[in-house]
Amino acid sequence: MLQTLKTYFGYDTFRPLQRDIIEHILDRKDAIVLMPTGGGKSICYQLPALLMEGTTVVVSPLISLMKDQVESLRANGISARALNSNNNDTENVMLRRECYQGKVKLLYISPERLLMELDFLLREIKVSLFAIDEAHCISQWGHDFRPEYTQLKVLREKFPQTPIVALTATADKITRQDIVKQLALKNPKTFISSFDRPNLSLDVRRGYQQKEKTRTILEFIFKRPNECGIVYCMSRDKTEKVAEMLIRHGVKATAYHAGLTPTARDKAQEDFINDRVQVVCATIAFGMGIDKSNVRWVIHYNMPKSIESFYQEIGRAGRDGVKSDTLLFYSLGDLVMLSKFAMDSGQQTVNLEKLNRMQQYAESDICRRRILLNYFGENMEHDCGNCDVCRNPPERFDGTIIVQKALSAIMRTEQQIGTRMLIAILRGNFIEGLAEKGYDKLKTFGVGRDIPQRDWQDYLLQMLNMGYFEIAYNESNHLKITPSGAKVLYGQEKAMMVVIKREEQETKAKGRGKKKETEEKALFKVPASVPVGEEDQMLFEELRVLRKRLADQQAIPAYIVLSDKTLHLLAIQRPTTLEEFGMVSGIGEYKKERYGKEFVEVIKQVLGK
Ligand code: ADP
Ligand code: ZN
Repeated sequence: MLQTLKTYFGYDTFRPLQRDIIEHILDRKDAIVLMPTGGGKSICYQLPALLMEGTTVVVSPLISLMKDQVESLRANGISARALNSNNNDTENVMLRRECYQGKVKLLYISPERLLMELDFLLREIKVSLFAIDEAHCISQWGHDFRPEYTQLKVLREKFPQTPIVALTATADKITRQDIVKQLALKNPKTFISSFDRPNLSLDVRRGYQQKEKTRTILEFIFKRPNECGIVYCMSRDKTEKVAEMLIRHGVKATAYHAGLTPTARDKAQEDFINDRVQVVCATIAFGMGIDKSNVRWVIHYNMPKSIESFYQEIGRAGRDGVKSDTLLFYSLGDLVMLSKFAMDSGQQTVNLEKLNRMQQYAESDICRRRILLNYFGENMEHDCGNCDVCRNPPERFDGTIIVQKALSAIMRTEQQIGTRMLIAILRGNFIEGLAEKGYDKLKTFGVGRDIPQRDWQDYLLQMLNMGYFEIAYNESNHLKITPSGAKVLYGQEKAMMVVIKREEQETKAKGRGKKKETEEKALFKVPASVPVGEEDQMLFEELRVLRKRLADQQAIPAYIVLSDKTLHLLAIQRPTTLEEFGMVSGIGEYKKERYGKEFVEVIKQVLGK
């Protein structure tokens, strides 16, 4: 098993559970596998496929996913094929012949197509294993229900002896039971790996207004010049606006949402996969078909409606295990909007509760990863050190006077205003409708002038979360003081508020220092002056260029030629012979033969050897 892993995939060790799962499958037993995105599910059936006689049939819901998988297998010298509606007749004839000759180790197929091909599968090829990818699609309880998947029931009937493995990254207990029942799995063993993704950093920014978000996003992207990522937005309109803004600032960006034509959507997706655009600004419609392993960051322009959605969306970053960053913006406006959606959803209680949990995550002053893993029923014993709370624990101060100013303004308007008007009154700004209502005559008019608008946004969000006022969603979002707010207002209780830190200011300074350093390095560096064991950044960029060229020649995505992880390892280990090149993790026999020479050449050149 280990030798096959090294020869074909270039890895030296299995990840947790992979070996157990593979042994179980090789014993021809059914299994259900739960691993987070990027956990390494594919190898769990790809390796058995190589070791067993016959063809492994992989059921996959989307053509784009199949294409990606088949391409990466073929890039490792493994004979894989996809049978779907994209193929023409000649291709299909050839494919059938190859299958018949037992030349195809892995055959990817959509569920609809599988049913059409049952006779062919039964009579003409020896099926070693069925792997059902994205298996949660079979269940109405799962969040991507696909009716075609329910017809997979016939597999057990028609192939009583063939093992079936169902794989998914998202399935709660009910969904899991449903998968077992519908596929009629025989005494399946369930393998659940940890859902932690330690390589993803977590960061939340509260109460930012549009201008601040824009600046933060631009800084974030400029700090990562060649790294691609996704900006998730709540509305279609916003995806286009953010993409336009980025383009105006010279970033290669595009929008993606369900309102675009299929051609435009395919183009956006293809451009992203092939590194022709750096950023996709998308609604949640984007992602399911994306297996790109080197998405380096995910930004949420708005807060998602639940922790499940959030975790799935940030999970699209860093599948290759390389450090990746995530950033969530969280504002009052989002909360108002999402609450409205939840109330109108027909499943009010459940959806409000989910939103509530999401809000707790965004508001947390304990390690955010603990909250996430807890939500998925996993207990984490220590803080992660890779979230903003761990890096920068919140400090509190006595904010009673601030709270009193705000609540008093609400009181004096007879609780007939929303947050926008409240901030205008506090800051003494004449916005439309303010003078008409006589709010400029209030005693509180202008008493909060010393606090910038954006900080008021933040404080109000804190006050809402501490329960000092409520938003009456059914009364034009007017603010209503609660009993505990009244206690603070009348001086019976103190209000401890969180000190607002503007993190980007600090990191900006840090980032600048770093950039200067690399610039200097580039100018004055004697080749190979970077100690072995440290990454040579100049070399990394050269390797990236070579990788892109090789990818374009074959019309495949760059990450399929070599993953980011492998590219980083090359820049650290700097192999100068074919032998050494083949020892780097992620390089199997096939890639060694195919690319070794050119990469070694570039390494030698850059090192001046
Ligand atoms: P999933 O399907 O669970 O989202 P993948 O199967 O695509 O994840 O694997 C994610 C990444 O991890 C891939 O780049 C894969 O090559 C890599 N990987 C899988 N198993 C190993 C391993 N044993 N050692 C190193 N890398 C691995
Ligand atoms: Zn943490």
